[in-house]
Amino acid sequence: MNAESRPATLACHPWVAHVAIVTEVRSEIDSVATFRMRFRDPEIARQYRFLPGQFNMLYLPSCGESAISHSGPPENSGEDFWHTIRFVGRVTDSIAKLKVGDQLGVRGPFGSAWPLDACRGRDVIIMSGGLGLAPLRPMIYALIAQRESYGRVVLLHGARTPDTILYPEEISQWRDHGIEVELTVDRASNEWDGNVGVVPLLLDRLSNVRPSETEVVTCGPEIMMHYSAVSALGRGIPETSIWMSMERNMQCAAGLCGHCQWGPWFVCKDGPVFRYDTIRSLLKVRDL
Ligand SMILES: Cc1cc2nc3c(=O)[nH]c(=O)nc-3n(C[C@H](O)[C@H](O)[C@H](O)COP(=O)(O)OP(=O)(O)OC[C@H]3O[C@@H](n4cnc5c(N)ncnc54)[C@H](O)[C@@H]3O)c2cc1C
Repeated sequence: MNAESRPATLACHPWVAHVAIVTEVRSEIDSVATFRMRFRDPEIARQYRFLPGQFNMLYLPSCGESAISHSGPPENSGEDFWHTIRFVGRVTDSIAKLKVGDQLGVRGPFGSAWPLDACRGRDVIIMSGGLGLAPLRPMIYALIAQRESYGRVVLLHGARTPDTILYPEEISQWRDHGIEVELTVDRASNEWDGNVGVVPLLLDRLSNVRPSETEVVTCGPEIMMHYSAVSALGRGIPETSIWMSMERNMQCAAGLCGHCQWGPWFVCKDGPVFRYDTIRSLLKVRDL
């Protein structure tokens, strides 16, 4: 098992969707918004815990269910939990229409977590592309909450264009909390005087990397994660210190239906966060 430790108890039965109420909708970038929600039953809200990297199944009657990662602070017993969602199809387009006070079904949390224990006392390089920053945000909150427990923390984030960078105000605040941030875009605008190019290039250029003291976590398009790993290996960071979050079509989320089977793994329960050495051979098989 390559997963980080899991919560001691699953507050919700994996098959049962509990009603959650939307408490806030924040538009982020084009076709992406963050929904804050809270379980209607206060006892479930109190019990519910998740680890950074885990996801919920969000359900709307007559539309279906979608796997969506947590994007908010992990220590939120009794509080709202957050999901940042791109509207791409049947379920997510229907979620896009939800307003404050509307209800939806939530199952979870599911899956493995980012390796916060393995990162303790070490440097952490976070590499994200596009919406891939959303599942990493709970990890960033956790690193900030115990900043003194970690070494150097660097965020290398890329977006298509400057106006599609997620959470721009928060990124500035993260700098104030001792996180080094390098941003890059595929296409610059007239106002952009930062990096242009792909995220792995940021790691190629990063100074003072201590390979044997570093963990790399990455989330984004699969090709970006692949080349992020190539870059990390090129900097001498071992395979066992590289972690990535995989996305596959999910239905049951509990390792039974087989929709997300990936070689010997079920992405829903063995992942989504995998250590690179356990999946390296699968990444080379196209369309697996
Ligand atoms: C573990 C996990 C975590 C995720 N976290 C997030 C998140 O935090 N925010 C977010 O916006 N999305 C996330 N996704 C992706 C999300 O689950 C899909 O975008 C969503 O299920 C699409 O459902 P739909 O009914 O709206 O679209 P559909 O009508 O089913 O599909 C619309 C289009 O999107 C494609 N598509 C559907 N599902 C996926 C998928 N899983 N990956 C890639 N393409 C897909 C379809 O092929 C189709 O082209 C996550 C997926 C997984 C597996």
